[in-house]
Amino acid sequence: MELIFWGTRGSLPMNTPAHRIFGGNTSCVSVHAGEHSVIFDAGSGLIHLGSKMAEQEVREVDICFSHFHSDHICGVPFFKPFFDPDCTVRLHSFGVAEATLYDALTSYLSRPIFPISIDDFQAKIEFIHHPDGAGAQLGGLQISALEIPHPGGAHALKAQADGKTFVYATDTEHTIGEANQSLIAFMRDADMTVYDCTFDDSEFEHRQGWGHSTWQEGLRLAQAAQVKKFGIFHHEPERSDEALMEIEKQAQHQLPQSLVTRDFMHLKI
Ligand SMILES: [Zn+2]
Ligand SMILES: [Zn+2]
Repeated sequence: MELIFWGTRGSLPMNTPAHRIFGGNTSCVSVHAGEHSVIFDAGSGLIHLGSKMAEQEVREVDICFSHFHSDHICGVPFFKPFFDPDCTVRLHSFGVAEATLYDALTSYLSRPIFPISIDDFQAKIEFIHHPDGAGAQLGGLQISALEIPHPGGAHALKAQADGKTFVYATDTEHTIGEANQSLIAFMRDADMTVYDCTFDDSEFEHRQGWGHSTWQEGLRLAQAAQVKKFGIFHHEPERSDEALMEIEKQAQHQLPQSLVTRDFMHLKI
């Protein structure tokens, strides 16, 4: 299984001299197994993946959404396959949320917020909703979802193929001192897990209720679940390259198989 990180930042796309190493695009990861692939979330990183898919004349696309906050859908109107009449794009949502994916995208892509609407897309678009627990078989990839605490609802996503497992767990908030046992079970023995590492534990005290978690909580979950590789993900927008390198050093000291994910990183698991 190969993972490509197109966007690893949380909340808002960023671009400053302090964002050169880790990048500033928001959440988007593509998961590849053999000739099959699936996209997790459509943050601003999706624009780069879309250009690559257009070049390669990809005609079938599956995008799974963890939830519909703007940093996870803002790449949608810039995704080239939507404007290719020969392309089919399937948009997958999971479980219960405040709104349907269709409602979220049509309200985001409407005036006065955005000049074009979903009706301007030329690809064949399918909205596919999967109730909790049922999961989905997308080509060779088995996808499952777990509801995680986040304002408006969110789901951790899991991709499995060829005996490999990748867990994508963002955005979510933890309760201090109470590990999310269902998330630990969902992550159990995964080859790689990424987690919402917006804050660190010292900042979190003043950020409770914001819907996000810390890299230290991610480490605790990854250790409890015995995951083989732990990826720090959904970086706080203003977190500098220097600060992220320091976090990586501290995380690796506690759990050597930790790393800070960065835009355009390719990983084989
Ligand atoms: Zn987010
Ligand atoms: Zn969110």
